[in-house]
Amino acid sequence: MSARFSRWGFPSPGLRLYDAIRKPSGHRRTTPLPSRRTCVKALHRCLRCVSIRPSIVKIFSIYIILGAWCCLPGGVAKTTAQASNQLTPVSIQSVTVEDSFWSPKRKVWQEMTIPDCFTKFENDRGGALNNFDRVRDGESDGHAGPPWYDGLIYEMIRGSADFLAAQPDPVLEKRIDGYIARIAAAQERDTNGYLNTWTELQHPTQRWGLNGGNDGYQHEMYNVGALCEAAVHYYQATGKTSLLKVAVRLANYTCDQVGPAPKYELVPNHAIVEEAFANLYLLFREHPGLKRGLPVAVDERRYLELAQYWIEARGQARKDQPSYGAYNQDDRPVFEQTTIEGHAVRAALLCAGVSALAGINGRDDYRQAAMRLWENMDGKKTYVTGGIGATAAGEAFGSDYFLPNDGYLETCGAVGAGFFDHNLNLLTGDARYADALERELYNGALAGVSLAGNSYTYVNPLQSASGNSRWSWNGCPCCPPMFLKLMGAMPGYIYAQDQTGIYVNLFVGSTAKIQLAGQTVSLKQTTDYPWQGDVKITMKPAKPSEFDLHLRIPGWCQGAASTDDLYQPSNRPVTGAARLKINGKAMANIEMVRGYATLHRRWKSGDVVQLTLDMPVERVKANAQVEADKNRVALMRGPMVYCFEGADNGAAVQNLVLPPGAEFTPEYRSNLLGGVTVLKATATGIFRTGADQVTSVPFKVMATPYYANANRGTCQMQVWLPESQDGANPQKQE
Ligand SMILES: [Zn+2]
Repeated sequence: MSARFSRWGFPSPGLRLYDAIRKPSGHRRTTPLPSRRTCVKALHRCLRCVSIRPSIVKIFSIYIILGAWCCLPGGVAKTTAQASNQLTPVSIQSVTVEDSFWSPKRKVWQEMTIPDCFTKFENDRGGALNNFDRVRDGESDGHAGPPWYDGLIYEMIRGSADFLAAQPDPVLEKRIDGYIARIAAAQERDTNGYLNTWTELQHPTQRWGLNGGNDGYQHEMYNVGALCEAAVHYYQATGKTSLLKVAVRLANYTCDQVGPAPKYELVPNHAIVEEAFANLYLLFREHPGLKRGLPVAVDERRYLELAQYWIEARGQARKDQPSYGAYNQDDRPVFEQTTIEGHAVRAALLCAGVSALAGINGRDDYRQAAMRLWENMDGKKTYVTGGIGATAAGEAFGSDYFLPNDGYLETCGAVGAGFFDHNLNLLTGDARYADALERELYNGALAGVSLAGNSYTYVNPLQSASGNSRWSWNGCPCCPPMFLKLMGAMPGYIYAQDQTGIYVNLFVGSTAKIQLAGQTVSLKQTTDYPWQGDVKITMKPAKPSEFDLHLRIPGWCQGAASTDDLYQPSNRPVTGAARLKINGKAMANIEMVRGYATLHRRWKSGDVVQLTLDMPVERVKANAQVEADKNRVALMRGPMVYCFEGADNGAAVQNLVLPPGAEFTPEYRSNLLGGVTVLKATATGIFRTGADQVTSVPFKVMATPYYANANRGTCQMQVWLPESQDGANPQKQE
C-alpha cells in the first residue's frame, strides 16, 4: 500500500483545479429567502402574539421587521448574525447513550479497540511511547515509526477521553495518565516547551522544518494540533490539567515562533491544528479560571489569531516555506478556492477548521468558503457511502464526478468529512449537514473497524473483485485513532440547541439533560433506528415551558431533490414519508425549518413525540455524470447503504444483475454480523457456459450493510450492481 508515503509525504505534482460549478442555492432543504408576502404574514403572526408575550415579542418583532426589510429588493444585506442560525452542541457529559445499535458497538470500542490500539502503538517498531522516553533521557536517533506518531498517540488520547466522558473507566484512565506523565517528562527537556519527538531525536536543528528540514514530512504543527485536541478533551472528560499544561506550553511556544513576519511564516502541512487552536481558545474563553493553575500565562486570543493566520496565509507567498500546492490546499487563498482539492483528509480537516473559526469570528468569508467547499465535496466528490478521496495518488479528491468504485476512500477521509459536516450543522443550523454526518456514522466511517473491534481498514472501496480484507496493524495506523475520535464524539452530536429550542440531529436511544431558558429540560429518546424508523421522545422539562423542539427529517426519507443531487433514491416522496404525533395525536402541516420539523408548544413533563420515518428499500441512482455508476443501482434503506458480499451470494457478486423490477424484502437477522437487517430478493445471475456463451438465471441474492463488509474473511464485494446484463462480469457456475 502506498498510503504510508502518499498520505504523509510530498505532494504529487500536477493536480489541477477545476472551474467552479457552484451548486444552485435551491437545495431541497435550504430555506429560501421568504417572499414579501411571507414576511408580512410572519409579522402579522408575531403581532397577534403581542398581547400574550409582550416583552419577548416586541424584541422578536423588531427582528422580524428587520428580517423582512432585508428580504426586500434593495434592502440591506443580511448580517452574519441574522443569517447564521448557529447552534450550540449538547455535550457528551449531558447525554447518556442507551441504544440497541450503538451501545454494544461502543462497548467493543472501549473495551477492545482502544486497548488494542494502545498496545499496538506501544509495540510497533520500537514503540511510539518510547520516543517520548528517549527525548526525556536526552538520547538521539532511534525514533520509532513516522514523525506523526506523536500526533497519533495524542489522537488516541482524545478519542479515549470522549469514551471516558461517557463511561468512566479507571483502568483506561490510569493507563492514559501514565502516557501523559511520559509525554510531560519529554517536554521538560526543552526550556521552551517544544515537543516533537521525531525532530528532537533525528534532526534537532530543524524545528518547524527550518534549516534544511522538511515540515511536509515532520508534521510539527499537525502534532501540536493533535496534542491540543487531546488536552482539551482529556480535561473535559476527567477535569485533569496534566496534558493541558503540556499543550499550552507548546501552543504558546508555537505562537511565539510561527505567524506573520517577523515570526516564521509557516502554515501546517497537514490541517488539524486550526480547529484545535480554535477549541483551545474557546476552552479558556469559557473557563478563564483554568488559567490560574497553569505553568505559563495564557492569552487565548493568540491561539485564535494564529489559527486565523494559518487559514489566511494559505495560497499566499511565505518567506519561510514553499507552497504545498493544491495537494495541501495551498495553491490559492482559501477564500478563493471554489472546489475542494488535494489530499482528502487534509482538505476535510482544513474545512472543519474554517467552519469552526467562522462560528467564533462571525466572518462571512470564512462561512462562505466552508459552505462553498462543502457543496463541491458533497455534491460532486462524495461516494454514496460518504467516502471521500477517490484517488490513491496523493490520497486525493478527483475531479468532479470522478468516483470509481475501486477508489481509495481512506477511513480518515470519511471521519474528516464527518467533522466538517458537524461543524457546518452547528454553524448554520441546517439539517442537511447532519444528514451528511449521519451517512458517515452509519457507513463510510463505521466500516473502518471490524465488528470484533481489533482489525481495521485504511481504504474503503465500493467494490472488490479479489476481496476486501482488514489488517491487524498498518505502517501508517492513522485510521483507528481518527475512527475513535469520531465515534467517541458521537454522543455529543445527537442533540444541539439554540436560545429558543432543542435540535434532535441523530436518532439514537439516549437521555439528555439540556439547559434551556434557565431550566433543565430532560428528554428520553427511544428507537430501534437504523433498522426501524420509529422514534419516541419523552419530554421532561423541570417545569412546563414554551420552547421549540426541532426534529431532523432526513433527506433519505423525504424532500424534493435539487437537479444536481449526486444520488437520487428512486421513490423518495416530497412529503408524507415522515409523520409526527404529539401525545398520540397526529400533527398536520408541520413547519419545516432548514430541514427540521419544528414543534413549538408549551411542553410539560410526560409529553410524548412520536416520529415515524418510512424506510422502504430504495434503489439509488447516481448522477449521470458519474461514469462508474452508469446503468447501476445501489441499495439503501434508511441511512444504511448496502453491499453484496460473496459470503451470502455464492462466492461471486460481479455476475449479479438487479433488474428494475426486483423486489427487496428487509429481514432482521439477530445472529448475523452482530445483528443487521438484510435485504433479500430474486435477482439475476449471469453465468458463463462456454467460451462465448453466457446464460442468465433467476438468482436469490442477499445484501448486507456496507459497514459490516469484510468481517467474514476475504470475499468479493460490490455496492453498485448493474441493472442489465451488459454491466455484469459472467462467472462460471460452481
Ligand atoms: Zn487514515
